[in-house]
Amino acid sequence: MSKSEVYKIGIVKGDGIGPEVVGAAMEVLDVIGEKYNHRFIYREALAGGAAYDKFGEPLPQETIDICKNSHGVLLGAVGGHKWDDLARDKRPERAILGLRKELKLFANLRPGTLFKSMADFSPLKTEIIQKGFDILVVRELTGGIYFGESGIKITESGTSAYDIEMYSQAEVERIAKIGFEMAMKRKKRLTSVDKSNVLESSRLWRKVVNKVSKDFPEVELKHMYIDNASMQVIRDPSQFDVVVTTNLFGDILSDEISMLTGSIGLLPSASMGSSAFGLYEPIHGSAPDIGGKGIANPIAAILSAAMMLRLSFNLDGEAKAVESAVDDVLSMGYKTADLRPERDRLRTTAEMTDLIKNRIHSNGI
Ligand code: NAD
Repeated sequence: MSKSEVYKIGIVKGDGIGPEVVGAAMEVLDVIGEKYNHRFIYREALAGGAAYDKFGEPLPQETIDICKNSHGVLLGAVGGHKWDDLARDKRPERAILGLRKELKLFANLRPGTLFKSMADFSPLKTEIIQKGFDILVVRELTGGIYFGESGIKITESGTSAYDIEMYSQAEVERIAKIGFEMAMKRKKRLTSVDKSNVLESSRLWRKVVNKVSKDFPEVELKHMYIDNASMQVIRDPSQFDVVVTTNLFGDILSDEISMLTGSIGLLPSASMGSSAFGLYEPIHGSAPDIGGKGIANPIAAILSAAMMLRLSFNLDGEAKAVESAVDDVLSMGYKTADLRPERDRLRTTAEMTDLIKNRIHSNGI
């Protein structure tokens, strides 16, 4: 997409704090649009509990259509106790799974970046975190054990249960390609994580990743077993750039890495398919306990918008402008209540958003 185009953004605010944090991200996008002369057109759609309340279903066709007709989608989060007792197919969470399926999103991208200003929040020792780290986990999202055959067998010796991990060559190829492409945009280092010393599916995974690597000769490829990888990210996270892995291993490893940043509430994510289109959302949920109070941390949603600028719109400079503004504001000590700031630095959702917007205006990037 060229820089002069109009960018159509699907907006799915969702439930709980969703509307507050997505609203904050839209304000930040407007500042970027003004400063860099881009036009962002928003089309809002309902999903989750809000959609159930209005239409009796969590993912109306209209929402799918609006998302499909956008260049990128910004999502808050869905769910809340109000809808806990609904039948499975009516529950708000079905909207997320449905959107991923309808939009053919098979790669989940989760950055684990340590903001210098947040180093004290990391559970890692100072001598480890002083080197900093910036890891991007690329997790396969629609295959593997979560989608394989599963069942229960009753035999004479009792009950057994099974879940099958299965990957096709094509599934591995497309996720490996995204891993390499992301590495090309970053430090050109890719670690593929598997368990090929034990699992047949991992042996195919490794073979296919090696094959795809031939198309990316500039990227330095390393293979690592999942048990070693989960130890290495704690021992020395600075050794990683992009990590590509299966659905199950990625689920666990990305949460582990998020925690190392000390700030799970600040982290964005993207779900991508085979084009530049993506769905962008904070990794946190709808936080119904603080919904509507104006105290939610808007940073994960704002950084999700920055990921959309970079990955779907190819606006890397603009994405960096947002990320630097966030880092600057945090470095000045301003934080929302969840990050337990000094009393005089405590800010509401709206105040944090204004600080970030003002910083984007004043930074000369
Ligand atoms: P949660 O992430 O919503 O909240 C966990 C804790 O973190 C709460 O105390 C909450 O107040 C706090 N928190 C989360 N985000 C925050 C923010 N931006 N600022 C300040 N504090 C924040 O997780 P949960 O409580 O397990 O789930 C609540 C609801 O969200 C459930 O219905 C769950 O199904 C849903 N959920 C949705 C998604 C999604 O839409 N992708 C993801 C996870 C959970």
